[in-house]
Amino acid sequence: MTDFLIIGAGIIGLLTARELIKRGATVTLIDKGAVGQEASWAGGGIISPLYPWRYSDAITQLAARSQRLYPELAQALQNETGIDIELIRSGMIMLDSHDKIPALAWAKTHQVTLDYLSSHAIAGLQTDLGIAAEALWMPEVMQVRNPRLLQALALSLKQNKVDIIEHQAVKQLYREGTRITHVATLDQTLTADNIIITAGAWSSELLGELAPEIKITPVRGQMLLFNAPEHKLTKMVLYRNHYLIPRRDDLIIAGSSLEYQSGFNKIPTLEALNELSVSAYTLFPDLRNATLIAQWAGLRPYATNGEPAMGLIAPYDNLYINAGHFRNGLVLAPGAVERFCEHYPIL
Ligand SMILES: Cc1cc2nc3c(=O)[nH]c(=O)nc-3n(C[C@H](O)[C@H](O)[C@H](O)COP(=O)(O)OP(=O)(O)OC[C@H]3O[C@@H](n4cnc5c(N)ncnc54)[C@H](O)[C@@H]3O)c2cc1C
Repeated sequence: MTDFLIIGAGIIGLLTARELIKRGATVTLIDKGAVGQEASWAGGGIISPLYPWRYSDAITQLAARSQRLYPELAQALQNETGIDIELIRSGMIMLDSHDKIPALAWAKTHQVTLDYLSSHAIAGLQTDLGIAAEALWMPEVMQVRNPRLLQALALSLKQNKVDIIEHQAVKQLYREGTRITHVATLDQTLTADNIIITAGAWSSELLGELAPEIKITPVRGQMLLFNAPEHKLTKMVLYRNHYLIPRRDDLIIAGSSLEYQSGFNKIPTLEALNELSVSAYTLFPDLRNATLIAQWAGLRPYATNGEPAMGLIAPYDNLYINAGHFRNGLVLAPGAVERFCEHYPIL
């Protein structure tokens, strides 16, 4: 029998599978759609929480661990698959200078490079910003091209003969006492020694009455994508929860909306188009000459108690969860998965 059945092939499920096979386990990964097409694809790929000083020490530590793991993950995936996940240290300018005091104190405590710069110095770092102001600058912040990261992870798992089942939604988990005996899709029944739920925003819906205390709900986030040939934006820029991410090519991403009442609806809206384009043009007016080529929405997994759900689900012996990373799943994933898998000895 397979050691682990992982339900949900987003960043958390894919990395969990990678980590477990490294430890010698056998793994089956199942997704209701194609691999990596939900929140992990829709996200921006900023490898830092936004306004990181506003988070708990636990999240800061997990993010710091991930930030250390990312370069080696990028290199390993490049070697294994030939895919460059475009991990770039583009740094982040944060124009919300009223946060100066807590931000500088946090940076000192956690030994993070964070400077408060004059508007003149900011203009020297990044030309053509639409807002001339003093700002916070974090030069070490990285970004990753998350769709490529997911593609590389999936390819690497396939090369390692991991069984990946796509387009099969798990409909029901069956228990006997404190064990999950099997799970069912519309077409098949699957068994494994252990079941891991990495179903992102769908995790609570999937668990249902098996774990009513775990409450993870979808929070919609929308993005715009601009094609801006020869643009001069080299830094990520953040202002009032909206940001721009320049990719290595001509693309610039503008994000993101934060919508708590959208349920599982992923249809992009005109309101978000207006909100995001106004902030994008304000931050970097040259974008008015760019072509808007896409708008999309993704569903962030929001744990209503504020903490991701990670570990064994009581009272079960073989049912685990790693979900609820909300706005930070891409940054937290390597650290969160490493910590999650530390429970398992190398087999
Ligand atoms: C607009 C936006 C911007 C973001 N920007 C960033 C950022 O810059 N940095 C950052 O760190 N984070 C960011 N995030 C958050 C990040 O994307 C998420 O926290 C992260 O992707 C969650 O990963 P996951 O694997 O838990 O969920 P998902 O990627 O959603 O994966 C869950 C998977 O489970 C599958 N699934 C669900 N139900 C079932 C079922 N019944 N049977 C089988 N499969 C099932 C789904 O199809 C899906 O593939 C952003 C999110 C959004 C929406």
